[in-house]
Amino acid sequence: MPTENEASAETSQHRTPRPSPTSIGNHKLKPQTLMLGYGFDPELSEGSLKPPIFLTSTFVFETAAAGKRFFEGVTGKRPGGAEGLIYSRFNGPNQEILEDRLAVWEDADDALAFSSGMSAIATLLLTFVRPGDVVVHSGPLYAATETLIAKILGQFGVSWLDFPSGASREQIDAVIAEAKAKGRVSLIYLESPANPTNQLVDVEGVAAARDAAFGADDKPPIAIDNTFLGPLWAKPLAQGADLSIYSLTKYVGGHSDLVAGGLVGEKGLINQVRMFRNTIGTICDPNTAWMLLRSLETLELRMDRAGENARKVCEFLRDHPKVEKVGYLGFLEEGSTQADIYRRHCLGAGSTFSLYLKGGEKEAFAFLDNLKIANLAVSLGGTETLASAPAAMTHLSVPDERKKALDITDNLVRISIGVEDPDDLIADFANALNAV
Ligand SMILES: *Cc1c(COP(=O)(O)O)cnc(C)c1O
Repeated sequence: MPTENEASAETSQHRTPRPSPTSIGNHKLKPQTLMLGYGFDPELSEGSLKPPIFLTSTFVFETAAAGKRFFEGVTGKRPGGAEGLIYSRFNGPNQEILEDRLAVWEDADDALAFSSGMSAIATLLLTFVRPGDVVVHSGPLYAATETLIAKILGQFGVSWLDFPSGASREQIDAVIAEAKAKGRVSLIYLESPANPTNQLVDVEGVAAARDAAFGADDKPPIAIDNTFLGPLWAKPLAQGADLSIYSLTKYVGGHSDLVAGGLVGEKGLINQVRMFRNTIGTICDPNTAWMLLRSLETLELRMDRAGENARKVCEFLRDHPKVEKVGYLGFLEEGSTQADIYRRHCLGAGSTFSLYLKGGEKEAFAFLDNLKIANLAVSLGGTETLASAPAAMTHLSVPDERKKALDITDNLVRISIGVEDPDDLIADFANALNAV
């Protein structure tokens, strides 16, 4: 009779993908290379070069003992998570390959896939935050995240305190001290760069402030929304964040044809969020996971091209007589605090920026209505260029005073540059500016 351990070793040998190589000798393979095959074993799928889409709600156990072991893992009775596939609310082959590949970009221990960026954020918050707790966050945040923290968690007795995205170490220290006096601080939540101000958060500064203010037993995790620059241009886990959040709808999906979210980071924290995701079912579906695998193969190519295009377009716009200013991370003032954070934290300036036209809403709308290539739509990070007016659209419901503080003026246009030919984009913007 084999012991239970031997039986499970046989079971998992049968169904676990063979480990994919991550290095050749001392040469460590880069994310771009790993996106093409990492985490997928063709032998488990009839030799198929590409992963099939596993459209199934449940998985067959080889033995009752194997089923028991899988459940021990998924319910936390045994550490280490599920050893095999059980039921599609918990995991599935497409989602697991996606998670392995997402983790690669930030050299993270582990990752989780979600049905949307907001379901990733909601699951994260519900995992760590309890009634009476205080969430410390940078401001402004993505509007739905602000609603979730202030309005929805507020109904459950959770409060929040924020510091401005560009805050100094002293400002961050002061907000943390004030929050500690109010209640248990269970999460520090960041978003960088902030939209539409483009202010970068000093993640190293926040981590140092957190480590100085808390002991080992009450230290809150630091989570950061890395949608705007990740995973190519910012890797905040390297600056001391514990969890990095993605709306995969944006650059990672990259083709404006799906909605999904991701979370990468430290294993112990990821496992806590995984337990919560298993319970409420905020995992993405297999078809979306498969589309994301296809998208990841070209992620670096797309982001590189979009980033180069954005630089060319911003250089053209900066000197145009009808333009007041361009809020682009590539144009930070030498020697400023923001430029210092950029140098320490960023690997590229991104492809989403703020264009302030001379004038007001009339001029902004005339510009938008005369674009021929750029699409008039919210969102970002897709292959096609998008343009919108935050004051009249995404930030319409923001109170006037806060709009003013955040520089969300009527002449502001938000632009996300795609992978078109850069000269064609410049021609489009030049033509639309002429019509203003
Ligand atoms: C789009 C976005 C989200 C929300 O993601 P969904 O996939 O739309 O749920 C969160 N944060 C940022 C910064 C975003 O741009």
